[in-house]
Amino acid sequence: MAELFYDDDADLSVIQQKKVAVIGYGSQGHAHSLNLRDSGVDVTVGLREGSASRAKAEDQGLKVASVADAVRDADVVVILAPDQVQRLVYADEIAPNLKEGAALVFGHGFNIRFGYIKPEADHDVFMVAPKGPGHLVRREYADGRGVPVLVAVEQDASGKAWETALSYAKAIGGLRAAGIKTTFTEETETDLFGEQSVLCGGASQLVQYGFETLTEAGYQPEIAYFEVLHELKLIVDLMVEGGLAKQRWSISDTAEYGDYVSGPRVIDPHVKENMKAVLADIQNGKFAERFIADQDAGAPEFKELRAKGEQHPIEETGRELRKMFAWIKPSDTDYVEGSAA
Ligand code: NDP
Ligand code: MG
Ligand code: MG
Repeated sequence: MAELFYDDDADLSVIQQKKVAVIGYGSQGHAHSLNLRDSGVDVTVGLREGSASRAKAEDQGLKVASVADAVRDADVVVILAPDQVQRLVYADEIAPNLKEGAALVFGHGFNIRFGYIKPEADHDVFMVAPKGPGHLVRREYADGRGVPVLVAVEQDASGKAWETALSYAKAIGGLRAAGIKTTFTEETETDLFGEQSVLCGGASQLVQYGFETLTEAGYQPEIAYFEVLHELKLIVDLMVEGGLAKQRWSISDTAEYGDYVSGPRVIDPHVKENMKAVLADIQNGKFAERFIADQDAGAPEFKELRAKGEQHPIEETGRELRKMFAWIKPSDTDYVEGSAA
C-alpha cells in the first residue's frame, strides 16, 4: 500500500520560515506561487528578461525578480519553467547563484531522472507534483480544497528534506487531498507513460479514429462529435467517482454489453504490446532524447504535429458546435481556440 500524507502530517511553519523562489509563472508556477503566498510563505517569482509573465505575477501582488536575483536570496528554489528549458536555466542562472544548502524543488522528475540536471551533493532535492493542471491546483486551493500531490525526495542533504517537502506540499494545498510517497524515477516514468498511452495520446487517437469512422460512413459530424468526444467527460467523471464498475452500473445494459464484447475488439492485445514499447522508450531515455533534440532545434517536429492536430476535422466541428453551447463555460485558462493552426 502506498504511503499517504495529510495536513496533520506536516508542519506549515517549516516552509513559512524560508524564502522561496519560484522560477516560471505558467500553469504550475502561478498556482504554486499564489498558494504559497496565501499560506503565509515569503515568495519571489523569478523570470527572464522581458518575460511576458511578469505583468501577470505583478498584477497578483507578487514580488518579481530576475532568475539570478530570486535564486541568490532563496532557501528553496522551485523550478517550474517548461521541462525542455530547465537544464539551460539551471546551468546559466540557478546553479551559479544557488545559496549553500538551498533546497531544489521540482514539479515533475524529468530533468533529474534523465540526468539533464545534476545538483551538487549539499542540496536537498525533492518533488511536489500535483496530479492535475495548474489552473485546477489554484482553483481548488482558493475553494478550500486541494489537488493530490506526489511527493519524493531524491537527495536529503540536510536530513530534513522530507519535513520541508511535506510542509511545501501542505502550503500549496496538496495535503488537503493527499500526498502520495513516490520516487523521481517512478513519478517520471509513470507520468510520461500515462499521458502518452492513455490520458493524452491514447484518448486523443481513440477520439479521432471514432470520429473518422463515423463521418467516413456518412454520419453527420455534429452527431459524431457528441458520441465520441463530448460524452467522454461524462463517462470519465463516473470512472473517477467509482471506477469502471460505477461507469458500467450507470450506463444502459445495451451499452454495458457492447463495452464487454466490442471494447476488446477495438483495444486488442496488440495495443498492450504497443504500450510496452512506449514504456520501454520512456525507460531507456529514447523519448526524452527525441523530445529534447527537437526542442533544441527550435521544435520543428513538435510544431508540425501540433498544427496537424489542430487541422483535424473534429476541431472545426467542435469550434462551431461549442459556440452554441451556452452551458459550456471555458475554464480559467489563457487558451485561445485555433492558436496553433
Ligand atoms: P509552462 O509552460 O506553463 O511554463 C511557462 C512559464 O515558464 C512562463 O512563466 C515562462 O515565462 C517561464 N519560462 C519559460 N522559459 C523560461 C526561461 N528560459 N527562464 C525562466 N522562465 C521561463 O510550464 P508548466 O507549468 O506546464 O510546467 C512546469 C513544470 O511542472 C514542468 O516540470 C511540468 O512537467 C510540471 N507539471 C506541469 C503540469 C501542468 O499542469 N502543466 C502538471 C504537473 C506537473 P515567459 O513568460 O518568460 O515565457
Ligand atoms: Mg506530465
Ligand atoms: Mg449513446
